[in-house]
Amino acid sequence: MAVLLQEKPISENITLISGTHPFGIDVSSILVSSGREVIVFDTLFYPQETVALIQKIKDKQMSVSALVNTHWHIDHTIGNELFGSRIISQVKSGDLMRTELPKQVKSFSGELKGARVKLPTETFVQETHITIGEIAIDLFHLEGHTPDSIVAYIKDSQVLIAGDNVMELPFIAYGDSAKLVSSLKEIEKLNVNQIIQGHGGACEMEKLREDIDYLESIQDRVRKAIVSGISIDDVANLPIEGFLSERRAKNLHPAYKEAIHKENLRKIYKELSESQS
Ligand SMILES: [Zn+2]
Repeated sequence: MAVLLQEKPISENITLISGTHPFGIDVSSILVSSGREVIVFDTLFYPQETVALIQKIKDKQMSVSALVNTHWHIDHTIGNELFGSRIISQVKSGDLMRTELPKQVKSFSGELKGARVKLPTETFVQETHITIGEIAIDLFHLEGHTPDSIVAYIKDSQVLIAGDNVMELPFIAYGDSAKLVSSLKEIEKLNVNQIIQGHGGACEMEKLREDIDYLESIQDRVRKAIVSGISIDDVANLPIEGFLSERRAKNLHPAYKEAIHKENLRKIYKELSESQS
């Protein structure tokens, strides 16, 4: 495959590199640099793309001082084995990468011939603080998309690297909708101008309101559906337009509009039927 990475400057020291995902959507890797050093947030999905990303860093005569995994999912971590640096994640990532990630590797074995899981070398529980040159980066555990999801807050640049807690459409099949809502509300308290999403490039804080509304309106609707005895399969067919503005729904890739939205409905149905029984 031809490797074509999109590069977008976010601020003087922060660059978003977008790669591709087999579902036809993009995936983010973020470089935070100072002098000749770079901290990389998330690998790309295709090993050839991660190799090209590392080459890009070498071409700038820079070296990677750390790789941070925002969560365990394959499209953010399968390139770990290509890095020789320390790898930082939340403590639960290690367990999930040991137990769950091999299943994802197997299901994408066609795309990822011979790719191997490499675990984080350093983990933290609630928060940790790393620096690169003069730049301070706060890593916070904020679960929702997955139990191990973290965000990186770069206060001086007013930038948040959100991992998949913020993406084109919230996705909670591997996580928890109530926890994601409360994490998004925590993010709203930060002094942030730009949010770099795990998929979908950068966005502004206003988008989080719509994400929260999307999740809360599904919760309301599904709660009523369960009381009325409506089945999970019928709930899964509720179109996205009932929960998201027309402007957002219209521009979404089918992977979100169909597959991910349906998975969200099913997951929330299961969450609420468990809590009501
Ligand atoms: Zn993810």
